[in-house]
Amino acid sequence: MSFLPVRAEMVNIGILHTSKLTSFVFHPEEGNYSIFTEHGKLMDIDKGEILEVSLKNNQISIKSLDKDYGTFKKVRFIGISGTNSFKIKLPYNNKIKVYEDNLFVNLHNYYNYFQLINNIEIDHYISGVVESEVGRSPPPEYFKLQAIICRTYALKNIDRHTAEGFSLCDKVHCQAYHGKPKSLLIREASLETNGIVIVDSDINLITATFYSNCGGVTANSEEVWRQDLYYLRSVRDTFCLNENNSVWSKTISKTNWEAYLKQHNCSEDALSSECSVEYFQNGREQFYWKDDVKIPFVKIRQDFNLKSALFDVEDEGSHVTLKGRGFGHGVGLCQEGAMRMAKLGYNYIDILHYYYEDVHMINLESLAFFKADF
Ligand SMILES: [Zn+2]
Ligand SMILES: [Zn+2]
Repeated sequence: MSFLPVRAEMVNIGILHTSKLTSFVFHPEEGNYSIFTEHGKLMDIDKGEILEVSLKNNQISIKSLDKDYGTFKKVRFIGISGTNSFKIKLPYNNKIKVYEDNLFVNLHNYYNYFQLINNIEIDHYISGVVESEVGRSPPPEYFKLQAIICRTYALKNIDRHTAEGFSLCDKVHCQAYHGKPKSLLIREASLETNGIVIVDSDINLITATFYSNCGGVTANSEEVWRQDLYYLRSVRDTFCLNENNSVWSKTISKTNWEAYLKQHNCSEDALSSECSVEYFQNGREQFYWKDDVKIPFVKIRQDFNLKSALFDVEDEGSHVTLKGRGFGHGVGLCQEGAMRMAKLGYNYIDILHYYYEDVHMINLESLAFFKADF
């Protein structure tokens, strides 16, 4: 069971970890910032000012263009205006990243680079995630749906990085987050669905999984992972059939394919019979099952690095062609199907219920109320 913070307004996101920053330039984009260190408040800065933050003798050094403020163990940049955002200029490519709200800079215990944490209002974070995960082209109704899913996912996994001192990282390990979104529509979608999450019949946050395209039929959760979740059931989906990721194909030499089948118990005799290497899935099957051969399709997907586990195998002489449908694990929401539904005028509630069975949408505040009651 996942535990929920009762007031979930701010979250701590570990950012730019893989950049291994030892220096960067801080520059307020919107609003004024107060800077605090372990000794208390250091100063206020506004839009026109820039600061250089760098690692010096394993401390955090702060300098402006004309002044050296010294070195510290931790530094907090706190936005003090109604709307606050800041820029970080990366030293190695001069790229500028923009984030909303606050920035915490810490020293790692073992690494010789900074730990950066974006302390941010959850709805600001969610809109950043939505744009990072799906881009700006989907219809507005889809953004609302994705915002609810990303919010549910974030809160369900809120303690993933507790040991490291923050809640979630900015990689796909948690959810991709590249900072402040450019799209106003995405920001509105996140605010409009403010506080809404998806819960199951026990009022626990659901595992809100999604992927690009199901190829016409979604998967039951236990076919892909060990967990059997009642709301992640296989459904037929005709909405995604003509989208970008609806079909794929891959050619494998017959020798390789036969060797693979042999590794999985297929005898020489079985291989010499007609159509021995072919297979046609009826709907979404769990196993490539033929004579003595039984291989989970998810394993074949992994072994051959395939886009999905939903495919037929056709014999074409010297090689076999895997003709596949969909892209991704297939459990939960099919993004391309959901985007199509949004384009056709379905609202986000209908779309959610189409892919997640018997779930409820609830506001975080009432969730806290229910949890307190039981
Ligand atoms: Zn993570
Ligand atoms: Zn689909």
